[in-house]
Amino acid sequence: MDFSQLGLSNDILTSITNANYEKPYPIQIKAIPVILKKQDVLGIAQTGSGKTATYVLPILESILKTPISNNRNIAHLIIVPTRELAMQVEEVIRSFGNSLPRKIKSAAVFGGVSINPQMIKLNGTDILVATPGRLLDLLAKNAISLHELKTLVLDEADKVLNLGFKAEVDEILSRLPAKRQNILFSATMEPNVEVLVDKLLNNPKKIEI
Ligand code: AMP
Repeated sequence: MDFSQLGLSNDILTSITNANYEKPYPIQIKAIPVILKKQDVLGIAQTGSGKTATYVLPILESILKTPISNNRNIAHLIIVPTRELAMQVEEVIRSFGNSLPRKIKSAAVFGGVSINPQMIKLNGTDILVATPGRLLDLLAKNAISLHELKTLVLDEADKVLNLGFKAEVDEILSRLPAKRQNILFSATMEPNVEVLVDKLLNNPKKIEI
């Protein structure tokens, strides 16, 4: 199986080649075509499985078809549990986004650092990677809006919940438009993750590797 068989455009295939990815990993083979079809996905996958590229590549594909944004409406939101993961995911977005014909603007926002430098950089952001608490702070300050959100990714959902972010996630979900694509990745399916899956995902394709 090759990346060229997954339904990705030539522009994205070039950026995959530039990243020196030769063959898709199993999670990518199973999930990328489903995500490209805009179906909701429940992915049970560990760190190291290649889950980040699994959701980043279809999001980039979608951005390639849209004009450059010049406002604070976020179209693609990735919620992660920690600052480290936020930075790591944004690095993946940048590495694929660099060689694309349309400029891709991504940002990573997390707590523990001053909010103002993050706020001023957010105009025109195509993909926002955020930890839950800081995302709510930014919403409260009107630094971003989620009413035009197209894709929501919740990565490492078990860790998000185990770090005590359930109330924050519920609050974020209450602010999203009804029509959107939802992608949830979790290493485990604990009861608290099941509850979130039922609330968040709409007829998801379950992919386990
Ligand atoms: P992740 O599980 O998303 O954190 O990815 C784990 C590591 O695998 C990262 O260093 C990725 O750059 C790498 N990776 C992901 N997919 C592929 C692939 N198809 N070929 C080679 N490396 C990959």
